[in-house]
Amino acid sequence: MSDFKIIDGKAVAASVLDEVRAETAELKARGVTPGLAVVLVGEDPASKVYVGAKDRTCRDLGLYSRKITLPTETTQEELLAVVRELNADPLIHGILVQSPPPKHINEEEIIRAIDPRKDVDGFHPQNVAKLALEDPSGFVPCTPAGSMRLLASAGVQTSGAEAVVIGRSMIVGKPMALLLMAKGSDATVTVAHSRSKDLPAICRRADIVIAAVGRPEMVKADWVKPGAVVIDVGINRVEDATAKNGYRLTGDVAYDEVAPKCAAITPVPGGVGPMTIAMLMKNTLQAARQLTA
Ligand code: NDP
Repeated sequence: MSDFKIIDGKAVAASVLDEVRAETAELKARGVTPGLAVVLVGEDPASKVYVGAKDRTCRDLGLYSRKITLPTETTQEELLAVVRELNADPLIHGILVQSPPPKHINEEEIIRAIDPRKDVDGFHPQNVAKLALEDPSGFVPCTPAGSMRLLASAGVQTSGAEAVVIGRSMIVGKPMALLLMAKGSDATVTVAHSRSKDLPAICRRADIVIAAVGRPEMVKADWVKPGAVVIDVGINRVEDATAKNGYRLTGDVAYDEVAPKCAAITPVPGGVGPMTIAMLMKNTLQAARQLTA
């Protein structure tokens, strides 16, 4: 099978953003400007890039964006105070504290302090519970939500499909598994992780493989059943002397050897990556709508 489909995350993200732009205009006509606050603590270069992109996307779509940059030495109490202020601010409908915070910050406590109605990352325990309960008033974490949208855009039949999710993080793997098994998606889901035995054999069963591991090019061609659909969530920096900045981005899947075996596959970059911000904008709209209903 070499006529595989490349799932174009940039194009799908652009169409999600078009929806958000139109819905934002409708909300504004009712006097509501959806507002997102993104809090960055410290100097992590990748986090700065992500926060900048979120801020720019908000502005481009007509949302209100507030970027709060705090020094590395910000204390837990100071950060909690910022979160509480944002919880009480009527201009702000979505709150996100960029991960990872500096080591001295207890991230779990920060997440729990965010008003769950403004938790557009979907990490608060109340939203995790709502996802498990299939309650649509909750917020679904952006990366798995984006991955589901990519599957839908490619016309992938999830009902009755064998799906293997590699990775069990709260940000990607676990919510992805819940979404795939939810009513309406109806996949049969296996979740693999670092203690799984014979991962290649588990993977070979899959009609749909979701790789969310953080290990460059781990999934090889002989792990993948011919005709499978592969969603590569991984974003890994690998050294590359020929690249301008000395590194290149690669996924968790050995794309060149895996793609020809697939029915469809996401590239890295340009696959899942662009969907994450797009779904964050969608979640912010949902928050604005629910808070002002
Ligand atoms: P985590 O490190 O939190 O989780 C990685 C998961 O992979 C863990 O469950 C771990 O198992 C599992 N794992 C690690 N090594 C192996 C192995 N050898 N075999 C099988 N499973 C293994 O990462 P995240 O979930 O946050 O992110 C995963 C990847 O997705 C990263 O590359 C990250 O950069 C990327 N990402 C991309 C986003 C996007 O916008 N496209 C957004 C978020 C993440 P165990 O639980 O046993 O340790």
